[in-house]
Amino acid sequence: MADHDVDLFVIGAGSGGVRTARMCAQQGLRVVVAESQYLGGTCVNVGCVPKKLFVYASSFREEFRTAKGFGWHVGESSFDWPTLRDNKNREIQRLNDIYGNLLDKAGVELVEGWAKILGPDSVEVNDQVYRCKKILIATGGTPFVPDLPGKEYAITSNEAFYLDSLPERIVIVGGGYIAIEFAGIFNGLGVDTHLLYRGDLFLRGFDQDVREVLKEEVEKQGVTLHFSTEIENIEKMDNGLFRAVLNSGDSIEAGLVMYATGRHPNIDGLGLENTSIETRSNGAIIVDDYFQTAEPSIYAIGDVIGRVELTPVAINEGMALTKTLVTGVPTTIDYTNIPTAVFSQPNTASVGLTEEQARGQYGDNIRIYRSRFRAMKETLGGGDGKVFMKLIVVNDNDRVVGCHMVGEGAGEIIQGIAIAVKMGATKADFDATIGIHPTAAEEFVTMRDAR
Ligand code: FAD
Ligand code: NDP
Repeated sequence: MADHDVDLFVIGAGSGGVRTARMCAQQGLRVVVAESQYLGGTCVNVGCVPKKLFVYASSFREEFRTAKGFGWHVGESSFDWPTLRDNKNREIQRLNDIYGNLLDKAGVELVEGWAKILGPDSVEVNDQVYRCKKILIATGGTPFVPDLPGKEYAITSNEAFYLDSLPERIVIVGGGYIAIEFAGIFNGLGVDTHLLYRGDLFLRGFDQDVREVLKEEVEKQGVTLHFSTEIENIEKMDNGLFRAVLNSGDSIEAGLVMYATGRHPNIDGLGLENTSIETRSNGAIIVDDYFQTAEPSIYAIGDVIGRVELTPVAINEGMALTKTLVTGVPTTIDYTNIPTAVFSQPNTASVGLTEEQARGQYGDNIRIYRSRFRAMKETLGGGDGKVFMKLIVVNDNDRVVGCHMVGEGAGEIIQGIAIAVKMGATKADFDATIGIHPTAAEEFVTMRDAR
């Protein structure tokens, strides 16, 4: 059994772990990273990247429909799931290799295996014990499925990426990012899609107008929504289908039942009991502003600290931590105005406050600009998909504190607007900006009627 001396031992080669490991190694630290499953973590393997590829795949059905009004006669179209899945797998393999090369070039030693913390300065992987000055926990999270009879029949997003075949009908449970994105994916790929959510409207925490508009648009796309609905139990039937028995007494038979009911931090088997690290009731590791746990030599970033579960957040936390470790200057990140997109169909994206949050903060001292219009492409395309945009402005200082959009390209558009919002742009700044015509985005600089 060999001992190793390491400046920083990173557990988990996902979004946060890889960035921190590379940057610290480039600054001259001796870094080892352990990964038990796949290089690149959730985002690259079973998250952002394959999800977005599936969203692209599922959007073609709508494109083929729209094309007719523009004079195109598209022959009979058909979709082959194995082709998409296998091409996606090849692309992910390519990305895994790139991650390996990046770590290698930066001088990071990669260890494949499960890492267990033995104490404040030692980690064990594959029966080897590493003596470490500092340890970083960047172990991410795992899908959570609530306890119910028949839960063993349910799949999660992890399995959805590797299905042997597509079902004729799917039931998706949840009202967050993953449930909505996968409802759009399966629906677009021709699966009869039923989305079940326990509350009265999905995307809790998003702006109310956005939630209502998206509900209408998702229904137009053909997804069947069942709100205020929960599954009591899942049964496997003789014909191979699953029956989801609902709290209403009704039931739905489907080839697959998928749960997208949140994710829990990966801390099981990590050896936290050998440290003084503290966790919240959901398992999230408690850290201070500088990502230090209650065990001074151990830090944590990313989904495992349960703050904002997004890849760019994990990466930015890792970059702040690198600065702290390398320069000794305690560095954190600013969690305000983090832009986000739900890759629903159409996209939903936001930056800043919802109207409800703004009213809580500023009372009636705000004005709201809304716009809803038929997407230009639909004029010849023949559909009735609408774009929705909303600005929230504080009266006293004219600052735009919230910006929301439902519509094609919303993620791309809000990313740009997020810079202005982050810089403290006022409505007058938006108005003084000349639009790009004809775009949907120009509406953000021409909205005039406040309420
Ligand atoms: P992860 O990327 O999860 O990496 C953790 C790594 O640690 C994993 O590789 C795991 O195998 C490894 N590990 C765990 N325990 C151990 C151990 N004991 N020893 C060794 N290795 C271990 N975010 C976005 O910003 N945009 C999106 O579009 C988006 N889409 C998503 C879609 C889906 C379906 C999902 C599930 C997530 C999505 N996310 C998205 C969220 C994003 O993937 C996560 O926020 C991000 O991956 C978190 O990074 P991380 O470094 O904290 O953890
Ligand atoms: P979310 O937290 O977004 O949503 C979880 C959903 O499950 C909520 O609607 C919640 O309802 C519901 N839920 C929770 N517990 C139960 C239960 N016991 N029974 C029934 N419903 C339940 O989690 P996701 O799994 O969708 O995604 C995890 C995280 O990954 C996201 O929060 C996001 O940070 C990240 N992600 C980001 C993406 C992006 O950037 N585009 C895409 C995918 C994931 P309620 O609201 O009532 O609590």
